[in-house]
Amino acid sequence: MSPASMMGRIFKAEYFPHSGFLYAQLGSNPSLIWRSIWSARRILELGLRWKVGSGVRINIWNDFWLPDPYLEKIKSARVSSVERVSDLIMPNMIVWNEPSIDSIFSPEEAFLIRNIPLSSFPQENRVVWGGEGLGIYIVRSGYRLLLQAPNFTIREHTLFKQIWGLSCPPKIKIALWKFVNAYVPTKSSLYDKRIASDPICPRCHLDVENVNHVFRLCVFARDVWVALEYATPVHVLK
Ligand SMILES: [Zn+2]
Repeated sequence: MSPASMMGRIFKAEYFPHSGFLYAQLGSNPSLIWRSIWSARRILELGLRWKVGSGVRINIWNDFWLPDPYLEKIKSARVSSVERVSDLIMPNMIVWNEPSIDSIFSPEEAFLIRNIPLSSFPQENRVVWGGEGLGIYIVRSGYRLLLQAPNFTIREHTLFKQIWGLSCPPKIKIALWKFVNAYVPTKSSLYDKRIASDPICPRCHLDVENVNHVFRLCVFARDVWVALEYATPVHVLK
């Protein structure tokens, strides 16, 4: 969704008027659409990167600015003497302060930082998509990044290949992947995060609302499956 689009501007005004999307809070009364978008931030966080310009606005410890897609945030122990990426650049020079970088960061992180090119022209820092797609997020690129992530298990890998092999639009495949990994803001997951006051299904009030309940076991879900003529006996579902 483009930030300049009508929907982009509405979501920003409603849910993160004073920050960027990555820092947005879920809010106390989120719509279903906003809940879904908010819960998918993890995929974006895996691939988004700051493109270092002056470095003034990039927080060394909290932002995702390293060019390696799988290191995520800086993991070296925090030191209070530097806060912004610009603190790691020699004053009035366009070179990294390498002695300082080597003394603060692990060898792996220091190597990555020292190899980030600095521009000789004044540039704003920008957030770009670090995967394929010339800096712009595309669904296939998000899929590939997830597939290569180091904590991706063989089971997930197989399942993901099966989902990606389906002949349906990419957005349906991403939605399916979110369902099987429980990346869905159900009452149960919101209760675990202390956002909801209880984990009970708001439709039937009969059980905990987890992904399986929402899409298979709830009376409402079963009615939908019956209407679609995909009804399965409940004892099989459980
Ligand atoms: Zn229910």
